[in-house]
Amino acid sequence: MKVRITDIQHFSLHDGPGIRTTVFLKGCSINCPWCANPECISSQIENEFGKDISLKELEKEILKDKPFYETGGGVTFSGGEPLLQIEKLEPLLKSLKNNNINICFETSLFIPEKYLELANKYGDEFIVDIKILNEIECKNILNGDINQYLNNLSLLDLDKTTFRIPLNEFTLTYENINLILELLKKFKAKKLEIFKIHNLARKKYEILNKEFYFKYVSNEQIQEVYEKFKEIIPNTNIIEI
Ligand code: SF4
Repeated sequence: MKVRITDIQHFSLHDGPGIRTTVFLKGCSINCPWCANPECISSQIENEFGKDISLKELEKEILKDKPFYETGGGVTFSGGEPLLQIEKLEPLLKSLKNNNINICFETSLFIPEKYLELANKYGDEFIVDIKILNEIECKNILNGDINQYLNNLSLLDLDKTTFRIPLNEFTLTYENINLILELLKKFKAKKLEIFKIHNLARKKYEILNKEFYFKYVSNEQIQEVYEKFKEIIPNTNIIEI
């Protein structure tokens, strides 16, 4: 069995606890205009981006880093939307569990429920973005179905979940921030990370011949929303990724 990936990153420090191996799977169900990994959106191999790798080969790559997992780390499946390939990944997930390796999924939650159910069987950690919650804007800007997202959110184990909010012109609106605050209260979120979108992906957009959306939001704006989130979730941090 093979899965399609764009990269395997060793010694990652920002994709879950401890030192981790991050596997970037190719293919995503939505399309964020600010995406930092635009080469992961299409499930097709494009230009130099993407290759198929057998589960055996992938496991070998992951296990090379096993000594570092004693830091509390493990493997993170990211992308793209990694859960789109979870059925193919399942034999590897079983084997990693047998090896006591911590598994984290970084998911948008814009996926069929059955994929999340499978992820719940194997995931020790989840990293879940909160992006745009207004139903129409979610559809128009991300091509996402917010009801699918909210349904999946109700199936997550929140003790295992870190929420992340990418801050940019689309997400940092008065209405959206208020909707996010309500959502965080409703779901009693435990851990939140917020981050400013960066422009390091510009080159990849050029290679892919895709339009690159990017506009900085100010540090003052970030600090202002940080204070609001912190009131609701004490474990809120500003991160750089
Ligand atoms: S969900 Fe993630 S990978 Fe998919 S388009 Fe958005 S930022 Fe990119």
